[in-house]
Amino acid sequence: MRALTVQPGQANSARVEDVSEPDEAEGAIVARTLGVGICGTDLEIVSGAYGWAPQGRERLIIGHESLGAVEEAPAGSGFARGDLVVGIVRRPDPVPCSSCAAGEWDMCQNGRYTERGIKERNGYCAERFRIEPAFAVRVDPTLGANAVLLEPTSVVAKAWEEIDRIGNRACWSPRRVLVTGAGPIGLLAALLGRQRGLEVHVLDRVTSGPKPALVRDLGATYHSGDIKALGFAPDIVVECTGAAAVLVDVMELAAPDGVICLAGVSSGGHSISLDIGLINRDLVLRNTVVFGSVNANRQHYEAAAIALSRADKSWLARLITRRVPLADWETTLKRAPDDVKVVVDFTL
Ligand code: BGC
Repeated sequence: MRALTVQPGQANSARVEDVSEPDEAEGAIVARTLGVGICGTDLEIVSGAYGWAPQGRERLIIGHESLGAVEEAPAGSGFARGDLVVGIVRRPDPVPCSSCAAGEWDMCQNGRYTERGIKERNGYCAERFRIEPAFAVRVDPTLGANAVLLEPTSVVAKAWEEIDRIGNRACWSPRRVLVTGAGPIGLLAALLGRQRGLEVHVLDRVTSGPKPALVRDLGATYHSGDIKALGFAPDIVVECTGAAAVLVDVMELAAPDGVICLAGVSSGGHSISLDIGLINRDLVLRNTVVFGSVNANRQHYEAAAIALSRADKSWLARLITRRVPLADWETTLKRAPDDVKVVVDFTL
């Protein structure tokens, strides 16, 4: 079967090649791949800056935002031929640490977790994949091809669950949310914020293309330009840019008792000068929480599946701005100005 593979650590080593059928050890469910979403992590892997091959192998099949149609599933697994299925990305570490032992592999404490398409396990960007029933999520068939958004939605479902839990340390009635960055993670974070009935503001650099209308059609407010000119103090910030200057600005801007979730992975190497003493004083005197959030466990995938099934299907479809056949995978690496989510579509 054809698959998109890379040699981790080596820039521009990605290629489509023939590989053997998925190993039975990868799970009892066999799925025919329908689509694989491409995100910043994939671009980093292709650039050689991130990613690990399975032990004893040189190359890794990439792709962690999956959608497949079940071809074979064992009786009693809860899955049947034709079901739409999404594979969970992370697997618990072998120790396991207390988080992984409790099914909270997203909070792994020893870093020995593995991730499909990223860290020591082949991913989903192949014509077929196998998956263990315990790490497969069945999705609402009415979502159709939009269900490829489940994995990025699981990441924001986790972020929101943590925001709720942290906020509930005190008597707290948050009203305004600021999402920085209107990429797929930012827009899905905005969707979940609106589903919670919050007043949502999204800030991004662009002034044209699909993003402003996508934000407005959620019933949220789109902003571009200087963050300091926003004119309000958000109770919650979901920071999705990873940009150094934005990080500092949101820490200054958040309302007292504010919760700032850092969901954007930055590449490093961007130093700025800042007065950490002053920032510390502001955070302490205003009870601000700044926390990082990555990955998702099964509960978050299930919460994300509910959120997507409640969302406007045509709005979700507009998030996928480009679908390309596997043969054209290289075009997914160059982000066009109007791209939100680009998907390798195995049905083309
Ligand atoms: C994925 C996460 C993963 C993280 C770090 C992200 O792109 O969505 O599932 O944990 O990369 O590898």
